[in-house]
Amino acid sequence: KFDESNVLQHLPKQFFATLVAKVNAKIASGADVINLGQGNPDQPTPDYIVQAMQKATADPENHKYSQFRGMPRLKQAVADFYAREYGVKLDPEKEVAILGGSKIGLVELPFALLNPGDTMLLPDPGYPDYLSGVALAQVKLRLMSLKAENHFLPDYDDLDPQVVDQAKLMYLNYPNNPTGAVATPEFYEQTVKFANEHQIGVVQDFAYGAIGFDGKRPVSFLQTPGAKDVGIEFYTMSKSYNMAGWRIGFAVGNADMIEAINLIQDHLFVSVFPAIQEASITALESDQSTVRSLVALYQKRRDQFYAAARKIGWEPYPSGGAFYAWMPVPKGYTSEQFADLLLDKAAVAVAPGVGFGKSGEGYVRVGLLIDEPRFTEACERIAKLNLF
Ligand code: PLP
Repeated sequence: KFDESNVLQHLPKQFFATLVAKVNAKIASGADVINLGQGNPDQPTPDYIVQAMQKATADPENHKYSQFRGMPRLKQAVADFYAREYGVKLDPEKEVAILGGSKIGLVELPFALLNPGDTMLLPDPGYPDYLSGVALAQVKLRLMSLKAENHFLPDYDDLDPQVVDQAKLMYLNYPNNPTGAVATPEFYEQTVKFANEHQIGVVQDFAYGAIGFDGKRPVSFLQTPGAKDVGIEFYTMSKSYNMAGWRIGFAVGNADMIEAINLIQDHLFVSVFPAIQEASITALESDQSTVRSLVALYQKRRDQFYAAARKIGWEPYPSGGAFYAWMPVPKGYTSEQFADLLLDKAAVAVAPGVGFGKSGEGYVRVGLLIDEPRFTEACERIAKLNLF
């Protein structure tokens, strides 16, 4: 009876569940798998954040339902963080939404803003969970192809004018998962212009905002003049503070879009456990030295992995941020065939690019989430397959 639901029928297949099952089967067979396929931060949450959370769990007020839209002090801390880090001014009550992780907001936003049949634009390749929002809202999906020759930024002039005309919402994600590309201020200026010209709301996913390499700090979309008139940015505690399991993130920017998120949230959730909100205030107000150390660690790993890969003739697309390397697939293989071969014959797991969309074909994603000497060992095992 229930399998007739339109929404369930349209939910995309969970590509990465299949990948995890393949990796687990290989491990169960006794193989020493080097897992470069996952995207889960491997470092622990910094002590000072854990301690702040532990202290806050003792508050007797915790037994009550907390404020629906999150603690005003946390919203203030988010506004202060954006002011300090990016020079962006935010009204904590109207321009900040507290979420149980950014994913929930990214998924529910099309539902809050669009009607079934409306058109939205997603990057291809892109973070697969954006597709869940398309399915839940029953909107029409159009893809913006991200190409290496354009630094994995969409080329607005290359989009079908009819599609652009119909589009009401678009998603961006820089630093980018899966390519590691970063956006420039000039690109964001073009984006604001494009959004204004065509009346398209912009959603920039800044999940990896803190993670930029080679001394270059990723810019916030909201630093762009006029950005707040057309869009919002999502941020998360998951990546820069290694709090992925804690489930806390936020959205900032355009007050109407923030209100739409909050209205949906009012019906679905009663905010995040207060002790986690308290710990997030502590994290955001800290001197950010743990974040700087984490970025240095990812950069070191990127360089170690690139060196090992180049030694076997495997040339990476240079990553400017996030914690991924975007690696080309040798001729004659699809990304899925290549990933299967590496797992089968070298016990090295990578994520096939096609799992992020059609334009991801031709690449695999490597997570910089383990330490040397495993990168070198992975590349040495791959070298034995004589593919490069
Ligand atoms: N956006 C991107 C691009 C991601 O890669 C992820 C997590 O992997 C998220 C959002 C979700 O983050 P959160 O833990 O805040 O839900």
